[in-house]
Amino acid sequence: MRFGADILRQADLLAGVTEEAGRITRTYLTPQHREAGELIAAWMRDAGMGAHFDALGNVVGRYEALDPRAEVVLTGSHMDSVVDAGRYDGVFGILAPIACVRDLHGRGARLPYTLEVVAFGDEEGVRFGVSMIGSRALAGRFDGAALDRRDAQGVSMREALHAFGGDESAIPSLARTRIAAFVEAHIEQGPVLLDEGLPVGVVTSIAGGTRVRARVEGVAGHAGTVPMPGRRDALAAAAEMVLAVEAHCRERADTLVGTVGRIAVCGGGAINVIPGEVEFTVDLRSGDDATRRAALAAVERRCREIARRRRVALHWDAFFELAAAPCDAALQAQLAASIAAHGIAPRFLPSGAGHDAMEFAAVVPAAMLFVRCGAGGVSHNPRETLAAEDAEVATSVLLHFLEHFEPRQLAR
Ligand SMILES: [Zn+2]
Repeated sequence: MRFGADILRQADLLAGVTEEAGRITRTYLTPQHREAGELIAAWMRDAGMGAHFDALGNVVGRYEALDPRAEVVLTGSHMDSVVDAGRYDGVFGILAPIACVRDLHGRGARLPYTLEVVAFGDEEGVRFGVSMIGSRALAGRFDGAALDRRDAQGVSMREALHAFGGDESAIPSLARTRIAAFVEAHIEQGPVLLDEGLPVGVVTSIAGGTRVRARVEGVAGHAGTVPMPGRRDALAAAAEMVLAVEAHCRERADTLVGTVGRIAVCGGGAINVIPGEVEFTVDLRSGDDATRRAALAAVERRCREIARRRRVALHWDAFFELAAAPCDAALQAQLAASIAAHGIAPRFLPSGAGHDAMEFAAVVPAAMLFVRCGAGGVSHNPRETLAAEDAEVATSVLLHFLEHFEPRQLAR
């Protein structure tokens, strides 16, 4: 095995760099961020790259083309984690391209472009509540207001960045909006490839999303004295609305997912009181914005019908929207060709989760290669798994892609 076993070993070493004993938690601008970044930078140098921490704490490795005027291609993923994370989310997309460069360097092979491998300091947004801090800056989309955000201890991002040795004034200069492409390898974080027996797949689009806060107002009453026909039970109405969201998305399961993740009787409720007021959330996601907007309208219409019939009021606040990020068609085709060259049928699939690549997709051609994860596709969880054989195949596909990629093939 050329790559897989080493990558899993390195992922194990990074898993040991954690803020909490016994579980993996690695957040932005912490000593563990520094320690993980130094490990990664050492592996980059060992593989034949120059490597450094940039002004925001991203680690950037550079494998130079022979021609100093050559274009730059970016790849990489994030080194931070959620709380109690798995060990491959983000990390795989850093280790796989380092393994590719080590292989190229060992053979004395250079690429017709300079390849930069980036380990982003923050993608998950755990510490400061804003996500994709690293990729946003490199995509030229960093919002300076993020520096005023404070963590749970009251430390601002500006203070933490200063303590880390970063440089606020250099953030604008991190923008890489003239790169030829951004390509990210990542575990799927879902069961599609696993269920279909495929080790890798090509991402078509990174899903956009809408979030809704809904409040149902009925009439509270005595659980013993109010007869059933006259009731205006807010929780029973909300329950019907939850099922309506599910039914709508199930009928369009190939393009849409919808979740009610929170529901609560206001004030906590009581066993002998008819619920008078209930709040719930709706999260709708799709790789296609038109599909998602149509679903939002349809689901709201359906919930309003339920509210009318049950004589309860419905307040519907769609408070957050994120557009989908379609992946570049030419890059998808080239990734598919590299998969086919390994005797594997290319499977195209959307990404339901957000990724660093979506920040780049807004400004440069971007694409993603998914690798199968085991254990039912579970992620953001210590049960996340990746087989060495799958890491091997995905890295070999990535290397094939990098060796056959010609920046000028992309329409600019
Ligand atoms: Zn990730």
